[in-house]
Amino acid sequence: MAKSIQAIRGMHDIVPEQTPVWQFLEKTIGRILDNYGYQEIRMPVVEKTELFKRSIGEVTDIVEKEMYTFDDRNGDSLTLRPEGTACCVRAGIENGLLYNQVQRLWYMGPMFRHERPQKGRYRQFHQVGVETFGMSGAEIEAELILISARIWRDLGLTNIVLQINTLGTSEERVAYRDKLVAYLESHRRKLDKDSLRRLGTNPLRILDSKNPDMQALIESAPGLMDHLGDASLDHFARLREILDAAGLEYEINPRLVRGLDYYCHTVFEWVTDQLGAQGTVCAGGRYDGLVEQLGGKATCACGFALGEERLVALLEDLDAGKQDVNLHAYIVSTGQEEIVRAVILAEALHDQLPELKLQLNCGAGSMKSQMKRADKSGADVALILGGHELERSGVTLKFLRTGEDQINIPFDKLASYLSARIAVSGSRR
Ligand code: ATP
Ligand code: MG
Repeated sequence: MAKSIQAIRGMHDIVPEQTPVWQFLEKTIGRILDNYGYQEIRMPVVEKTELFKRSIGEVTDIVEKEMYTFDDRNGDSLTLRPEGTACCVRAGIENGLLYNQVQRLWYMGPMFRHERPQKGRYRQFHQVGVETFGMSGAEIEAELILISARIWRDLGLTNIVLQINTLGTSEERVAYRDKLVAYLESHRRKLDKDSLRRLGTNPLRILDSKNPDMQALIESAPGLMDHLGDASLDHFARLREILDAAGLEYEINPRLVRGLDYYCHTVFEWVTDQLGAQGTVCAGGRYDGLVEQLGGKATCACGFALGEERLVALLEDLDAGKQDVNLHAYIVSTGQEEIVRAVILAEALHDQLPELKLQLNCGAGSMKSQMKRADKSGADVALILGGHELERSGVTLKFLRTGEDQINIPFDKLASYLSARIAVSGSRR
């Protein structure tokens, strides 16, 4: 026998047993975003490598070591998208959606990063991204945060904590960066290998280090908040005022800097302690400079992305999102003529009852083995079409779950009978 081929490490199938939870997650999010007036946008999975280098930043983890980059057959360097914001901005500029306009957009789909696979961290994973353009006030940031809070609530997830911080403007950050580098230089001996590397490239990221040995050093580092001007502080105060008025709890985490270069002012993360080290389920913030950086006219913007795998893991722990996937009816038939008749009957029922979940037995078999399949299908009732039934121009209904006596129903009454039965069983659920 030939050796079977396995999926790529860190890339997973989502098998039928798991898809109901994913559908529950995605339907809930889609409904909420629709209710807030957000429109879906779909972008390609592959983009020019340059797009991510220019937006995410050359010295970030993603661009330095996580991208799936390859040469196209005509020599262009392409990359499987590691995130969606850059793609969304590229698409917005290219399609004339951004300049002088207000947009509220969202997308969903696979992202690719060559990371070390572990629980909550994969090489192909899925994000829902939400991006807004043309709104400079703190109220749009509050709206994004409140939307994410509503998503957790409607999914039934608790224990997800909001952390916020402000990064100020890029000018303020440059000035702060110098002070931070000077401080870290003076403690060079205490820096770990990662931090030494970042010192010359992306020193703010050192604040984000998870290394316990570095924590004391980081605690005493100069704080970014102390280096911000009045306008930046006012903006952040305004966001807090709205969140307070909305009764939303949050923590201010001065060390929340995000890994990507393009953020300014507000950044936020939603974090849970229920997923071990991979506790961030959603992250976002303001990125006013990015549109211009990617060749568009200056447009303010903010957004967030949530990680679907991590939310699915939380939902699975709660045993939530189990939808009723059982069939209502299963058609069993024997004999050549009856099978044709069964196909036509199934089509007629699907025409008449859009809500009916009905499956046809395919692949013959004895009546006994077909009834076994009917039972396994989870259907409430088997519709039996045999020679006997054809003569009487009706169908025998055998109830698979309730122990009711079987009955015979004429073809022309079947749809209304099933419709009434679905309504009753629907209200019972
Ligand atoms: P982390 O610090 O966990 O690496 P990140 O800052 O790289 O996250 P973002 O780029 O902000 O993540 O992506 C937003 C969200 O997407 C994350 O909060 C997380 O839920 C999810 N995510 C990111 N990388 C992965 C991955 N490799 N596997 C699964 N989910 C991921
Ligand atoms: Mg990461």
